[in-house]
Amino acid sequence: MENKVSFYNTLTKKVERFIPNEEGKASMYTCGPTVYHYAHIGNLRSYIMEDLLEKTLRYVGYDVKRVMNITDVGHLSSDADTGEDKMLKGAKREHKTVMEIAKYYTDAFFADCAKLNIKTPDVVEPATNCISEFIHMIETLMQKEYAYESGGNIYFDTSKLGDYYVFSSQNEKELLVGVRDDVEEDANKRNKSDFVLWFTKSKFDDQELKWESPWGVGYPGWHIECSCISMKHLGEQMDIHCGGVDNIFPHHTNEIAQSEAYLGHKWCNYWFHVHHLTDKSGKMSKSKGDFLTVSLLESKGYDPIVYRFFCLQSHYRKPLEFSYEVLDNMSAAYDKLVKRVGTLDRTGTPDKEKMASYRAKFEAALCDDLNSSMAVTVLYDMLKDDMTEVTKYALAESFDEVLSLNLTTAHAIREAENKVDAGLKQYVLAKIEERTAAKKEKDFAKADAIRNELLEKGILLEDTREGVKWKKA
Ligand code: AMP
Ligand code: ZN
Repeated sequence: MENKVSFYNTLTKKVERFIPNEEGKASMYTCGPTVYHYAHIGNLRSYIMEDLLEKTLRYVGYDVKRVMNITDVGHLSSDADTGEDKMLKGAKREHKTVMEIAKYYTDAFFADCAKLNIKTPDVVEPATNCISEFIHMIETLMQKEYAYESGGNIYFDTSKLGDYYVFSSQNEKELLVGVRDDVEEDANKRNKSDFVLWFTKSKFDDQELKWESPWGVGYPGWHIECSCISMKHLGEQMDIHCGGVDNIFPHHTNEIAQSEAYLGHKWCNYWFHVHHLTDKSGKMSKSKGDFLTVSLLESKGYDPIVYRFFCLQSHYRKPLEFSYEVLDNMSAAYDKLVKRVGTLDRTGTPDKEKMASYRAKFEAALCDDLNSSMAVTVLYDMLKDDMTEVTKYALAESFDEVLSLNLTTAHAIREAENKVDAGLKQYVLAKIEERTAAKKEKDFAKADAIRNELLEKGILLEDTREGVKWKKA
């Protein structure tokens, strides 16, 4: 098949044509969430754009296998192997066990993904499933003398590599080394940039999850999981590795160091990174009090898919600032779009030539460094073009395999919901009238019975000065 997809490879700092290791196939690995809290919509921007890449590859004909880890152990609050384990922090905050926290937030993550039409990867593997694989990789690194034991912990020796800072230019390297100068020093390390593969000693010894290892009871460092889990499912040569830009250093840099030292050859050819979503105050963070989640958007009345629409309108290599004002505009545009598609006449047969020509334009936009806003423009152009409605409908359905905006289904669902709402409103108002009459006649038992009847149906009544108000519970 023709290799026509191109995207920016952080490793070569160029937009490159994607050529897989195996003709017609694409192996993809995605750094999954650290499940100590809800994902914020910034995290989800990364997953939306990675989903778009996967679906683009599938659309043009690749057989994709995508793997994702779930970080449920080892991710400390600082990238410099110091601080508290984020999972333990979550467990303490909520007075639960680490595994309860992991289960709850893993489920919440996939529920959010479902609302945003993010496909679940073919393989999802929690880090705590693979401890024996981590130990095996670390043992091999020890045998090959890429790793050493010091103060009870096992560290990766970055000085053994010709080029540790693989993603960075000379200037950036100097900056990174400078930054590391400020980092609180771990006296066990031979070099500042060395990182932990296995902890047996740390600043906190109440770590809940610990395992036996050749170096004593302990737990893995954060980076080792992605190397092991990707190799377990995708083999020793991988096509694409994804993540947000904050993963470039140190996480992905360390993944490459340990993977290639272990394998003795190049590991992954393409590195796809999504830039950050910011809010007015700067970078989004889970440690900030009221951070933005899908549930928060829903509670404010937004359809979560509008957030996906918002993300698709900007390029994955540009930072994106979130604001409710822009989301409101997106919401209005989305309503119009799904109404337009949902009311197209579907009788007749689609025009094959028009279909092929528009599919080619749509593919060209996505294959050109995943130009999602251009792909949306192709959709709008197509809807304006002079062709049969059934052709437009078929094209919208086809484009939605990648865009995943519920283009053909949202309108009908909304109409049905409106009908239900209109029926419900009529019923509730009649009951309120009946209750008011009962109260006037001092039949309080009947008035209470009506209130309870509504409550059972999920309707809350509130007596206010302006009269009786109601809402769904
Ligand atoms: P975490 O759950 O912190 O491990 O992060 C999950 C994913 O979200 C990683 O790929 C991060 O690189 C990515 N990420 C973190 N913050 C943002 C942000 N503000 N915008 C986009 N992606 C982010
Ligand atoms: Zn990772």
